[in-house]
Amino acid sequence: MKPKIIVSACLLGEYCRYDGKTKRMEGIEELLKEYEVIPFCPEAPIFGTPRERINVVMTNGEKRIVTDETNIDVTKKLKGEIERFLASHPNADRIILKSKSPSCGLGTTPILDENKKVIAKGNGLAADLFLQHYKKSEISDELSLAH
Ligand code: SF4
Repeated sequence: MKPKIIVSACLLGEYCRYDGKTKRMEGIEELLKEYEVIPFCPEAPIFGTPRERINVVMTNGEKRIVTDETNIDVTKKLKGEIERFLASHPNADRIILKSKSPSCGLGTTPILDENKKVIAKGNGLAADLFLQHYKKSEISDELSLAH
Protein backbone atom coordinates (compact mmCIF):
# COMPACT_ATOMS: atom_id res chain seq x y z
CA MET A 1 0.00 0.00 0.00
CA LYS A 2 1.34 3.44 -0.94
CA PRO A 3 1.72 6.09 1.76
CA LYS A 4 -1.02 8.71 1.71
CA ILE A 5 -0.36 12.35 0.96
CA ILE A 6 -2.87 15.19 1.23
CA VAL A 7 -2.09 18.06 -1.16
CA SER A 8 -3.78 21.43 -1.63
CA ALA A 9 -5.68 20.92 -4.86
CA CYS A 10 -4.50 24.17 -6.48
CA LEU A 11 -0.90 22.88 -6.28
CA LEU A 12 -2.02 19.80 -8.22
CA GLY A 13 -3.26 21.96 -11.08
CA GLU A 14 -6.92 22.24 -10.15
CA TYR A 15 -8.50 25.58 -11.07
CA CYS A 16 -9.99 26.03 -7.62
CA ARG A 17 -8.51 29.33 -6.46
CA TYR A 18 -10.77 32.26 -5.58
CA ASP A 19 -9.80 33.94 -8.87
CA GLY A 20 -10.50 30.81 -10.90
CA LYS A 21 -6.81 30.14 -11.45
CA THR A 22 -4.48 27.37 -10.41
CA LYS A 23 -1.14 27.40 -8.59
CA ARG A 24 0.20 24.20 -10.10
CA MET A 25 3.56 23.36 -8.59
CA GLU A 26 6.39 22.64 -10.99
CA GLY A 27 7.54 19.01 -10.71
CA ILE A 28 4.66 17.93 -8.47
CA GLU A 29 4.02 14.67 -10.38
CA GLU A 30 7.57 13.49 -9.78
CA LEU A 31 7.30 14.30 -6.10
CA LEU A 32 4.01 12.46 -5.72
CA LYS A 33 4.61 9.32 -7.74
CA GLU A 34 5.26 7.15 -4.68
CA TYR A 35 2.08 8.30 -2.93
CA GLU A 36 -1.64 7.84 -2.94
CA VAL A 37 -2.67 11.46 -3.49
CA ILE A 38 -5.67 12.96 -1.71
CA PRO A 39 -6.54 16.42 -3.12
CA PHE A 40 -7.82 18.96 -0.60
CA CYS A 41 -9.61 22.26 -1.16
CA PRO A 42 -12.15 23.33 1.45
CA GLU A 43 -13.14 26.63 -0.17
CA ALA A 44 -14.27 25.67 -3.68
CA PRO A 45 -17.02 23.19 -2.65
CA ILE A 46 -18.75 25.66 -0.33
CA PHE A 47 -18.08 29.05 -1.91
CA GLY A 48 -17.71 28.08 -5.60
CA THR A 49 -15.03 29.22 -8.06
CA PRO A 50 -14.43 32.06 -8.74
CA ARG A 51 -15.50 33.50 -5.39
CA GLU A 52 -14.96 36.48 -3.16
CA ARG A 53 -11.60 36.48 -1.47
CA ILE A 54 -11.53 35.66 2.24
CA ASN A 55 -9.14 36.77 4.97
CA VAL A 56 -8.02 35.72 8.42
CA VAL A 57 -9.09 38.55 10.72
CA MET A 58 -8.23 38.82 14.41
CA THR A 59 -11.50 39.63 16.16
CA ASN A 60 -11.59 39.92 19.96
CA GLY A 61 -8.38 37.93 20.19
CA GLU A 62 -9.70 35.13 17.99
CA LYS A 63 -8.92 34.25 14.37
CA ARG A 64 -12.03 34.50 12.21
CA ILE A 65 -12.47 33.94 8.48
CA VAL A 66 -14.19 36.93 6.90
CA THR A 67 -15.08 37.75 3.28
CA ASP A 68 -12.98 40.55 1.86
CA GLU A 69 -15.58 42.99 0.59
CA THR A 70 -18.90 41.91 2.05
CA ASN A 71 -17.42 41.35 5.54
CA ILE A 72 -19.32 38.14 6.25
CA ASP A 73 -17.95 35.80 8.90
CA VAL A 74 -17.72 32.40 7.20
CA THR A 75 -15.60 30.68 9.85
CA LYS A 76 -18.29 28.17 10.79
CA LYS A 77 -18.97 27.15 7.18
CA LEU A 78 -15.30 26.71 6.34
CA LYS A 79 -14.57 24.86 9.57
CA GLY A 80 -17.48 22.51 8.89
CA GLU A 81 -16.07 21.65 5.46
CA ILE A 82 -12.58 21.03 6.85
CA GLU A 83 -14.00 18.85 9.62
CA ARG A 84 -15.93 16.77 7.06
CA PHE A 85 -12.65 16.23 5.22
CA LEU A 86 -10.86 15.22 8.43
CA ALA A 87 -13.63 12.74 9.24
CA SER A 88 -13.35 11.08 5.83
CA HIS A 89 -9.52 11.10 5.84
CA PRO A 90 -8.52 10.33 9.42
CA ASN A 91 -4.93 9.41 8.52
CA ALA A 92 -2.22 10.73 6.22
CA ASP A 93 1.52 10.18 6.11
CA ARG A 94 2.36 13.53 4.64
CA ILE A 95 0.68 16.84 3.80
CA ILE A 96 1.68 19.62 1.41
CA LEU A 97 -0.29 22.85 1.75
CA LYS A 98 -0.44 26.01 -0.34
CA SER A 99 1.32 28.94 1.30
CA LYS A 100 -0.31 32.28 2.17
CA SER A 101 -3.89 31.04 1.89
CA PRO A 102 -6.50 31.86 4.57
CA SER A 103 -7.32 28.15 4.58
CA CYS A 104 -4.12 26.30 3.70
CA GLY A 105 -1.27 28.68 4.66
CA LEU A 106 1.27 27.36 7.14
CA GLY A 107 2.84 30.26 9.02
CA THR A 108 2.72 32.42 5.88
CA THR A 109 -0.88 33.68 5.85
CA PRO A 110 -1.43 37.40 6.46
CA ILE A 111 -3.37 37.89 9.69
CA LEU A 112 -5.37 41.12 9.52
CA ASP A 113 -6.86 43.37 12.15
CA GLU A 114 -10.44 44.58 11.80
CA ASN A 115 -9.26 47.49 9.64
CA LYS A 116 -7.66 44.99 7.25
CA LYS A 117 -4.14 45.90 8.25
CA VAL A 118 -1.66 43.02 8.27
CA ILE A 119 -0.55 42.52 11.89
CA ALA A 120 1.22 39.16 11.64
CA LYS A 121 1.81 36.05 9.55
CA GLY A 122 0.28 32.82 10.74
CA ASN A 123 -1.67 29.71 9.81
CA GLY A 124 -4.86 29.47 7.82
CA LEU A 125 -7.84 27.68 9.32
CA ALA A 126 -7.21 24.31 7.68
CA ALA A 127 -3.52 24.39 8.63
CA ASP A 128 -4.47 25.00 12.28
CA LEU A 129 -6.94 22.12 12.25
CA PHE A 130 -4.53 19.82 10.38
CA LEU A 131 -1.77 20.48 12.93
CA GLN A 132 -4.18 19.47 15.70
CA HIS A 133 -5.51 16.41 13.87
CA TYR A 134 -2.55 14.92 11.94
CA LYS A 135 -0.10 15.00 14.81
CA LYS A 136 2.16 12.32 13.35
CA SER A 137 2.18 13.53 9.75
CA GLU A 138 4.91 15.56 8.09
CA ILE A 139 3.24 18.88 7.21
CA SER A 140 4.89 21.43 4.94
CA ASP A 141 4.08 23.90 2.20
CA GLU A 142 5.27 24.27 -1.39
CA LEU A 143 7.68 27.06 -0.42
CA SER A 144 9.63 24.87 1.99
CA LEU A 145 9.89 22.18 -0.74
CA ALA A 146 11.33 24.64 -3.22
CA HIS A 147 14.51 25.03 -1.13
S1 SF4 B 1 -5.00 27.35 -1.17
FE1 SF4 B 1 -6.30 25.74 -0.32
S2 SF4 B 1 -8.35 26.63 -0.22
FE2 SF4 B 1 -7.13 27.94 -1.57
S3 SF4 B 1 -7.55 27.16 -3.64
FE3 SF4 B 1 -5.70 26.14 -2.89
S4 SF4 B 1 -6.47 24.25 -1.99
FE4 SF4 B 1 -8.23 25.61 -2.19
